Amino acid sequence: MLQVLFMLLFAFVTLAPAGALAEKPGSIESLISKETRLMVFSPHPDDESLGAAGLIQRVIKTGGSVKVVFMTNGDGFPEAVEMGDHISNPSARDFREYGQDRMEESLRALTTLGMKESDVIFLSFPDGGLSALRSKPGGKQKAYTSPTTGENRPSALAVVVPQTGYTGEGLQLEIERVLSDFRPNMLATTGPEDTHPDHASTHFFVKQAWKHLHKEHPEFKPTWLIYLIHYGQWPMAQGSGTWSKLDPPEDHPHKEKWIPLVLTPGEVAAKRKALLEYQTQMIVMGRYLLSFARSNELFRLDNQ
Ligand SMILES: [Zn+2]
Repeated sequence: MLQVLFMLLFAFVTLAPAGALAEKPGSIESLISKETRLMVFSPHPDDESLGAAGLIQRVIKTGGSVKVVFMTNGDGFPEAVEMGDHISNPSARDFREYGQDRMEESLRALTTLGMKESDVIFLSFPDGGLSALRSKPGGKQKAYTSPTTGENRPSALAVVVPQTGYTGEGLQLEIERVLSDFRPNMLATTGPEDTHPDHASTHFFVKQAWKHLHKEHPEFKPTWLIYLIHYGQWPMAQGSGTWSKLDPPEDHPHKEKWIPLVLTPGEVAAKRKALLEYQTQMIVMGRYLLSFARSNELFRLDNQ
């Protein structure tokens, strides 16, 4: 009897998420096919794996293609440079080298997920400086200088559009170029509600770039997915155990809109492995990073 009860309970628990999913605008899985061209915009090296490692793997496995675009190299994190490299007053060169380390980590992480290095794009804009580039939309801006690396433009190797400096206009043009080159039919970005200014600004600039392209090419309407990284104590507040379920934050304004993408055990294992490639970040916040390695990821559709 107990066994029957258990089986009934198990059936209910297994079926419950599917029922809940049916009320959503659609499942993430149903949006993916071999025609999918996914472009993931990641504010820093690690956000793409934290938020979308499963999505990336699923699209590749289904026969679609993926590009990841890093907005910054993550070279503006003094505490991590000090702790990781045991340097008390890091110089501009130390920060640039730290950014280089993070770029290399991201290439290892993304190849772990099945991507080719040639499908990874680094825009090399200033870590911690994206919101400053939003301050004067439209007008001619003086280029921003990164307080950590001392740079005021992306490195010659990274630049997509010639003569680009650290301005909002420059960043928008670069994003327009990568969007035009790849023509994604699915986009994933951090959301405007993300509490890290670089993350909210990533959404802002990608949206600006898309709006501009969409005016000239109204048919360019990719499915836009938001993934969440920073929001109070989330997801650490739900524990940090790998494999457990990831729920949206209780106090999130769009709490009901999140759609789970349930990952296979193999996808979770590869996600965990990818996160472990980010050794510079594991040193300073390993428990936080691994708290994203759960049995599902969460996305919500952005209403364009
Ligand atoms: Zn980030």
